Amino acid sequence: MIEIQKLIKQADNKLILRGVDLSITKGETVAILGPNGAGKSTLLKVLANLIKPTSGQVKINGMDLKKEHLKIKKIVGYLPHSSLLYDHFSPLENLVFFGNVYGINNVETSAIELVKEVGLSFFLNEPVKNFSRGMIQRIAIARAIIHEPEVLLLDEPHTGLDQGAIAILNNVILTMKEKGTTTLMVTHDFKQAAEICDRIIIVKNGKIVDDFKIKDRDLNFVSEKYQLLTEGVS
Ligand code: ADP
Ligand code: MG
Ligand code: MG
Repeated sequence: MIEIQKLIKQADNKLILRGVDLSITKGETVAILGPNGAGKSTLLKVLANLIKPTSGQVKINGMDLKKEHLKIKKIVGYLPHSSLLYDHFSPLENLVFFGNVYGINNVETSAIELVKEVGLSFFLNEPVKNFSRGMIQRIAIARAIIHEPEVLLLDEPHTGLDQGAIAILNNVILTMKEKGTTTLMVTHDFKQAAEICDRIIIVKNGKIVDDFKIKDRDLNFVSEKYQLLTEGVS
């Protein structure tokens, strides 16, 4: 579903991504972990077509990002690091606005369903300006999936959320997975990654330095692996 070859990104004479090769199959849920400044967000931004790579190739669902970004845009959902909503819009208006940008049909019905799915029906028509971080993030993720993307890119979706919001977020990600969505999620939260992902990739200094499957939710394995990683990482 996602094929990345020899991806290099340079900015201001600094190599941010120094040759990333990565292959993700349809329906996989993959976490990207790594220290600050490793290049994790940059990798997602390239996939979301926000920034252009310096060199290398990116294919999503067989389409070359360089040539077919307009088609790719329709099948990719992206939740940036600090998600912002329109302050004076309600959840419904925020979702309908983005659904209209994507040109989807029956946008209001989808929006109402999604607001229900993230547990905020009661606030459907309240301006979001007084919402907590968790509530904002729940609407932001609903917005990222309003067009039913085949590929979902999430940048630190769990950061700053309470347990309730984390549970709802995880549920949304797992529901998307059941529908066949491929998810790539940057996180600092190893436990959440182990809980909902099939595979973990470690990025350090612009390169993938480890890549492993989480088998049978074996948390011991994962936490041992994590300790090994953090020894080298901090
Ligand atoms: P991460 O998400 O892993 O914390 P980022 O991908 O945001 O890291 O950034 C990786 C490194 O590249 C950081 O040192 C950051 O300051 C730098 N960087 C990111 N974008 C740019 C840019 N447009 N110009 C120059 N440096 C950048
Ligand atoms: Mg960071
Ligand atoms: Mg980042």
